[in-house]
Amino acid sequence: MALIEARSLVKAYRMGDQVVRALQDVSLDIAEGEFVAIMGASGSGKSTLMNILGCLDRPSEGAFLIDGQDASDFEPDELAALRRERFGFIFQRYHLLPGMDARANAALPAVYAGRSRDERIDRAEELLARLGLEERMHHRPNELSGGQQQRVSIARALAQDADLYLMDEPLAGVDAATEAVVVDLLRTLRGEGRTVAVVHHDLDTV
Ligand code: ADP
Ligand code: MG
Repeated sequence: MALIEARSLVKAYRMGDQVVRALQDVSLDIAEGEFVAIMGASGSGKSTLMNILGCLDRPSEGAFLIDGQDASDFEPDELAALRRERFGFIFQRYHLLPGMDARANAALPAVYAGRSRDERIDRAEELLARLGLEERMHHRPNELSGGQQQRVSIARALAQDADLYLMDEPLAGVDAATEAVVVDLLRTLRGEGRTVAVVHHDLDTV
C-alpha cells in the first residue's frame, strides 16, 4: 500500500460565473522511500496539488488516501495532527517566527514530536550547519537574507522526521549559494531513502 494515493483529483475554483479548473483528473501514488518530482509550467496546478497532498486543502472531486484511509473521513483535529506529525512542509513563503532566532525556529517542530530540549537543539544545530548556517544560529529572521531564511525553513522541516516531505519550489528565488546547498541536501535525502515530493520546473540537477 502506498503512503499516499490520489485518485482522479479535480480542484475547481469558482471565480464569479467562471470556473477555474486548477486540477483535472490527477492520479498518483507515493510509496514510502520514493522521491517524486512534480514538474509543470507556472499555473499548471502544482501548488494546488501540493496543498491537497499536505491536507491543507481538499479536492473538489476524487479520492485522496493516506495509508489507505480516505482523507475526507478525518476530523479537522485529526488532520491538524497529521500535518504536524507526519508532513514536513517546505513552501514558497518561509513562515518563520520573527521573535525567535534561527536555532529556535529550526528546533520548533520537534517540540510537537516530544523530543527533549537538548535533542531538539542538537538536531537543529546539526541541520543548520549542514545548510551552511553555523555562523547564523542566533540571528533572527529579519537579520538573515532571503536565501538564509529559506534554509532555516528547510532545516525546520527536516527537524521534524516526517513520513513525507512536501517541497513546493524549494529553489525558487534563492541565491546561487543556497541553491547549491539545497540541491546537495535533496540528493542526500534521496540517498537516505526519505519520502519526498518536490515541485520544481527543472530537476535535471538533482
Ligand atoms: P502552479 O503552482 O503550478 O503555478 P497553482 O496551483 O498555484 O499553479 O494554480 C493553478 C491554477 O489555479 C492557476 O490558474 C491559478 O490562477 C488558479 N488558482 C490557484 N489558487 C486559486 C484560488 N484560490 N482561487 C482561484 N484560482 C486559483
Ligand atoms: Mg506554485
